[in-house]
Amino acid sequence: MGTFGRKIVDTDVEELVKLLNKAYSDEWLAYYQYWIGSKIVRGPNKEAVIAELTLHATEELGHATLLTTRIIQLGGTPVTKPQDWFKLTNCGYDAPEDPSVFKILEQNIKGEQCAIKAYNSLLKKVRDKDAVTYNIVLGILQMEVEHEEDLQSILEDINVMMKKR
Ligand code: FE
Ligand code: FE
Ligand code: MG
Repeated sequence: MGTFGRKIVDTDVEELVKLLNKAYSDEWLAYYQYWIGSKIVRGPNKEAVIAELTLHATEELGHATLLTTRIIQLGGTPVTKPQDWFKLTNCGYDAPEDPSVFKILEQNIKGEQCAIKAYNSLLKKVRDKDAVTYNIVLGILQMEVEHEEDLQSILEDINVMMKKR
């Protein structure tokens, strides 16, 4: 751990690590929700939906990687037990029990909206306190905004397609 790098953080580091571990837990659950959704999804425009869900799964895993790196830099320990993801998560896990494209897209849009809310609030907490974490969280927030937009536009396309038939 970089001792001076930690010293410039102008906030309670332990509390910050806790918040980062909560976000980290969200990312793993989001990863799995997308990943398993991409395997079981059924319905119109399935191929485009599978491609987007698969890409998003990979991107959520990338967010988990960014968060672990920062947790470790801050001298913290990333969550080691998957069962703790459910204790720490902000946004939970919405099991895709109905494989219809409509239901899966709706569940993941809800998840993205929760992620946007959670990262926006974390961003406000670290603003002017920890520039490095701020930058990481801002980058993730930008991607969650993109994710919501991608899913809503696919859903819109499918709805237009369905009306023409
Ligand atoms: Fe994410
Ligand atoms: Fe996302
Ligand atoms: Mg996308």
